[in-house]
Amino acid sequence: MDVTAKHDAAPITLDRLRKVYPDGTVAVEELGLEIGSGEVTVLIGPSGCGKSTVLRMVNRLIEPSGGRILIDGTDVTNADPTQLRRTIGYVIQNVGLFPHQNVRTNVGTVPRMLGWEKGRTAERTDELLELVGLPAAQYGKRYPHELSGGQRQRVGFARALAADPRVLLMDEPFSAVDPINRGRLQDEFLRLRRAVRKTTILVTHDLQEAIKLGDRIAVLSDHAQLQQYATPAELLARPGNEFVERFVGEDRGIMRLSVTPIPADGLRPVAEAGDGAPVVSSGATLREAFGVMLATGRGAVVVRDGDSPVGALTAADVQVALASAAVETPA
Ligand code: ADP
Ligand code: MG
Repeated sequence: MDVTAKHDAAPITLDRLRKVYPDGTVAVEELGLEIGSGEVTVLIGPSGCGKSTVLRMVNRLIEPSGGRILIDGTDVTNADPTQLRRTIGYVIQNVGLFPHQNVRTNVGTVPRMLGWEKGRTAERTDELLELVGLPAAQYGKRYPHELSGGQRQRVGFARALAADPRVLLMDEPFSAVDPINRGRLQDEFLRLRRAVRKTTILVTHDLQEAIKLGDRIAVLSDHAQLQQYATPAELLARPGNEFVERFVGEDRGIMRLSVTPIPADGLRPVAEAGDGAPVVSSGATLREAFGVMLATGRGAVVVRDGDSPVGALTAADVQVALASAAVETPA
């Protein structure tokens, strides 16, 4: 099965992008953003700040009032929108599946538009349904109303990937799903990311989601004004201004635990964890280590690399490690 990218991922540049709606609403004042090839960039900001407008300009569902969009260095601001959209996967809240088409037909939408031969479309469709955990034999003939919200979302994701797009745009893709399934879908997205590396712009208003899914996060205020563009770790450790500080809130200390790995050096001797201490893997984050301590009521964990214990970590060490964690500043 080869569902990995046949097309290379492409970097995206937003250059002084601007949108004024016909009624005079300035939705996007002037936005500049560089999105690295194969990276997930999250746009986050308060409701109405212009996130969806930015996304819709990238696939030209709406026309920019000014500025340029470059994909892989090519100005697509004046490209034919229909052609352009075939190279861009678009996933929206509530998915937008065609209700009178079954799952298979929905997923094959873009390949059919592109005039792919039937057999090739069917093969691709089955491959993608397998990838998102909805085997075609079981789910292919179902209609959208015969699926759960989370399953519909997966079909939407498979459909977006069908023609192997260079770019993936996702607008609040998980926000209509209940919290438990949202967590599962996010985990699945991370798993799929490793298999299918697409340059992705994901819109959310949920900071936890941004931290979990983003390689970089762009914090926007009204009129899509860029307040900070940074990795999750940097955003939490060093909010760039008062707006960002208020936006990330007081939980940022706790959230930093989940983006900070257990330090490789300076662990205590294993014996200091005490008899029967719980174990965490050396690849875990401070959050997992601290979570285990709280759940088991122990003050320390043994850190293990494969089968060999490499040291002990105490609750106090977690605080020290967080305070001294190096945060990479993006170039
Ligand atoms: P977000 O996705 O961040 O919630 P949107 O991009 O949907 O924000 O909207 C940004 C601003 O543009 C809002 O003030 C919204 O009311 C306005 N807006 C969105 N669509 C239109 C439209 N078609 N005409 C006029 N104003 C619009
Ligand atoms: Mg929106």
